[in-house]
Amino acid sequence: MKHYVSTYLFLCVVSITAFIESHQDVLTTVSQNKKDTLSDLCNDAKAAAIKATEFARDSLFAKAKENVQLLAMDGKEHGIAFGKNANGNVIASSVSTGNANSATLGNVPNKFADLHNHPRNFPPSSGDVYALIDNASLNNSFETRYIVTPGGTVYALVITDLQQAKAFNTKYPRVSDPGYQPKFPGVIVDEIIDMKGIHNISEEMAMAYVMEHYQMGIALLKQDTHGSFIVLRIDKVENADGTITFLVNNCQ
Ligand SMILES: [Zn+2]
Repeated sequence: MKHYVSTYLFLCVVSITAFIESHQDVLTTVSQNKKDTLSDLCNDAKAAAIKATEFARDSLFAKAKENVQLLAMDGKEHGIAFGKNANGNVIASSVSTGNANSATLGNVPNKFADLHNHPRNFPPSSGDVYALIDNASLNNSFETRYIVTPGGTVYALVITDLQQAKAFNTKYPRVSDPGYQPKFPGVIVDEIIDMKGIHNISEEMAMAYVMEHYQMGIALLKQDTHGSFIVLRIDKVENADGTITFLVNNCQ
């Protein structure tokens, strides 16, 4: 009997391993109880990344980013909003000045994106996520938030699935933190702390992971040296000994 059980277990492991090898995409997102496979998720995010890349090459964006970076020398957040006028031409708001933790963004007609700086080298925050969902829920054409850090890194948060973003906002409502940006609920905050503290994962990769894992309907992008936005993502792999490893697996 014992032999039978171990043989059976062995066969299971072999067949699971074979399944993993041939269905890696499906397995990775099998817990997401959703239609999406990894390639669907990446296709949606990459389509948004192409749009984010194209607009970031616009001279109006370049000028806005330069203005925000110059003003950022004061250690505060500054923001600018992008929209379209009646003729369909892209326009920008004036640059606003916030405080060390947040910036109120100017308003323009037909707003589709905004840009702000972070006074420290931090990637997009929980507050940025909720603000994106709020803006996109009010106005479907708003789908991108650009964030620039003092080190010159440019991130973009993009909506990939607005219905999913709205559902996330209901299921995991923001926790207000007076004087600061709203935070994620404790379960997500704890997961980020564990990823960073125990597994040595960077803040940006921990953010990318929770965005996908908690189905926020948002992707985290990072601009590369050629100006293209890359879709950041990470896989959580359970090892045979029960330990967890996080592997960077950005959308290709
Ligand atoms: Zn921010």
